[in-house]
Amino acid sequence: TSSLCKVPRAPPDKVLGLSEHFKKDKNIHKIDLTVGIYKDAWGKVTTFPSVAKAQKLIDSHLELNKNLSYLPITGSKEFQENVMNFLFKESCPQFGPFYLAHDRISFVQTLSGTGALAVAAKFLALFISKDIWIPDPSWANHKNIFQNNGFENIHRYSYYKDGQIDIDGWIKQLKTLAHNQKKENDKQLHCIILHACCHNPTGLDPTKEQWKEIIDTIYELKMVPIVDMAYQGLESGDMLKDAYLMRLCLDVDRYPNWSNGVFLCQSFAKNMGLYGERVGSLSVITPATADDENLNPLQRGNSLQQNIDSQLKQIVRGMYSSPPGYGSRVVNVVLSNTKLKHQWFKDVEFMAQRLHYVRKEMFERLRWPDLINFAQQHGMFYYTRFNPRQVEVLKNKFSVYLTGDGRLSLSGVNDSNIDYLCEALDAVSK
Ligand code: PLP
Repeated sequence: TSSLCKVPRAPPDKVLGLSEHFKKDKNIHKIDLTVGIYKDAWGKVTTFPSVAKAQKLIDSHLELNKNLSYLPITGSKEFQENVMNFLFKESCPQFGPFYLAHDRISFVQTLSGTGALAVAAKFLALFISKDIWIPDPSWANHKNIFQNNGFENIHRYSYYKDGQIDIDGWIKQLKTLAHNQKKENDKQLHCIILHACCHNPTGLDPTKEQWKEIIDTIYELKMVPIVDMAYQGLESGDMLKDAYLMRLCLDVDRYPNWSNGVFLCQSFAKNMGLYGERVGSLSVITPATADDENLNPLQRGNSLQQNIDSQLKQIVRGMYSSPPGYGSRVVNVVLSNTKLKHQWFKDVEFMAQRLHYVRKEMFERLRWPDLINFAQQHGMFYYTRFNPRQVEVLKNKFSVYLTGDGRLSLSGVNDSNIDYLCEALDAVSK
């Protein structure tokens, strides 16, 4: 008999499987609030005006349009420059340029945020650590990605308790880890995933002061921060403002040298609406080494950064060889054209404002006793705290689809379904 007969059935993807169910549902009031895709006030997934204009420019530009050859393994030079400028000069103006000037950033164009996380995981598991700390709760794919790419120990840190963010529990856990490591003289390094903003699924992020306390602890522990920035711009509507966690991590005065680097996994899926084009990046911020200090700036070409670059290249080559072209061209046109970039910032602001409006309208309609954190949440999602049974009832009785963890994507809510939705939520919450 075939060895393939021994392959067991994997569970269906929790989010994407629900969309399939939704398609078959005959209820005319049905609402799909599962996937984190932005829909406008009419329930349509539309292309941002800035992106539509960039597409037009690409269409009319023969050379750009017709070039279907391979991109370099880690992306085009143009993409690297544009995105690094955006991330490190514009989003982190105080310290980003310092890292760029010292060749302290290894950069790879990736298959969106998921691809960035996967390449980071593979690299880290090969050279640094096989231990990862993921918030509880978190985006379900985090565990999947790290498990599939060589991580052996998946730990969860407390993130959420009684409807509030659990900073004390989180820091206590990190300190316990430090204490236990000291006791056992264990030098094992640990990686930790941090949601840069708009935490998925809770929509609750630490305050700037709380982040300082958390990052101070992570720095002291020599943990490796993996900053997952999938929603830059969706929190405040201001793309640059939302990079606050990266600005903090790169603060050289506060954190002079991250001994095992900082990993930034960034995505243009949500903030440029390029979901299916799979455009994002991985940046590895490398530590300063004694070697660097001795080199004069002209000779620099930091050797540590070059070694890391070479390994990232090798990983990408063996995984998927090179990134897709079209989406990266769209990003290039948007980022290199002042007018389009300005439009893009406006597009993101508009999207964030609509999500904020929906959240406010729901808040005014719902009559729950424990809406404690509603107004503090932001981004794409609202975390209902419904248990799986309540989510099931919502689906079966009202044809309202949330993910099993009670997460609701606000982008599917609009004036035509908000009353029905809030009545259903009220009914189920009792
Ligand atoms: N990280 C988080 C927390 C997310 O919610 C998502 C998307 O839902 C991603 C990363 C990556 O998404 P993509 O691979 O589409 O960029």
